[in-house]
Amino acid sequence: MASDANRRMGDAGGKNKRRPQPSRNERLFLPPLSALATCSLVVLVLVISGWLCRGATGEVAVNLRTATVALGCAAMASCLLCHMVDPGKPRPDPHDVAPTDEDDEAQRVRVRHMSGGKAFRQKWCRDCRIWRPPRCGHCRFCGRCVLRLDHHCGFMGTCIGEHNMRFFAAFLFFAGLGISFVVASSLHYMHQLGCWSSIQPWTERFQPVAIIAFLFFCPVPCPCCSVAAGSPLFSLAGIALGGMMLADTEIKDEGGGQRKITDPTAFALGEIKAGLTCRGGRAYCCGPLSLRWVPDASKAVSPPALPSAVEMGIPQSEDETDEQLALL
Ligand SMILES: [Zn+2]
Ligand SMILES: [Zn+2]
Repeated sequence: MASDANRRMGDAGGKNKRRPQPSRNERLFLPPLSALATCSLVVLVLVISGWLCRGATGEVAVNLRTATVALGCAAMASCLLCHMVDPGKPRPDPHDVAPTDEDDEAQRVRVRHMSGGKAFRQKWCRDCRIWRPPRCGHCRFCGRCVLRLDHHCGFMGTCIGEHNMRFFAAFLFFAGLGISFVVASSLHYMHQLGCWSSIQPWTERFQPVAIIAFLFFCPVPCPCCSVAAGSPLFSLAGIALGGMMLADTEIKDEGGGQRKITDPTAFALGEIKAGLTCRGGRAYCCGPLSLRWVPDASKAVSPPALPSAVEMGIPQSEDETDEQLALL
């Protein structure tokens, strides 16, 4: 009776409504097209930059062009690896039991303890039919659960999770560094044309104005970012993400919301120490490189069962979504 009442109340509020799952065609065709489109953007930047600076001569110009192409290739390889490597598939414990009523919110949440003794609330995923390990989340675009889910990236055409985040960070870093070499090549060519000492090159040739327009007004890397701005943004994002991976930074609190940091200095020092000791290195950098289409052998096994969250007296937030709970 209680379950029926719960289900009726949940349905009335729309909380128990199942998420619409992506179609088979969407899963098979759209993600690879997204990754290929991102690689095409990298090629487009390389081609436009090479065409605008085709008149540059000298050893410095050749070295800058070589470094730009090499970094562009590294960025494309990182993008393809990020897309192809499975982001992290949780392995269900075969001895674990499913809730008797999947639509009963109380039965879908239970309390477990990690190896260090820390308690966390574990949620049953109705779509994947598994108890999610700590920090595992369900991606509504891919219709599956992912270990240490960060987000679903439209540019990579896949979820960013425990096993492919290294390639995502590498893509950001190589793309940012490659763009900085595009900027350096362009400025070096303008220096060769004498743009900094005379007005003549600006009036006789189209390249100076075209290069400035390309660097500062062309939103090639993404719709809200110019080529020149993309250099520091992408590089710093890649470095920051790499640091967070090494430190295994957790930004969610135990309730699934944004973690409240009362002492920023102590938090920063703790994260730096964790990064130097590579707390998250094993999880993020040593995971299996199985392809997304091949079943992997993830080591994520649910810890032993304890009473449910309701039995433990832990309050449940009204606004908690599956994704928030999943990132406990
Ligand atoms: Zn799921
Ligand atoms: Zn996804």
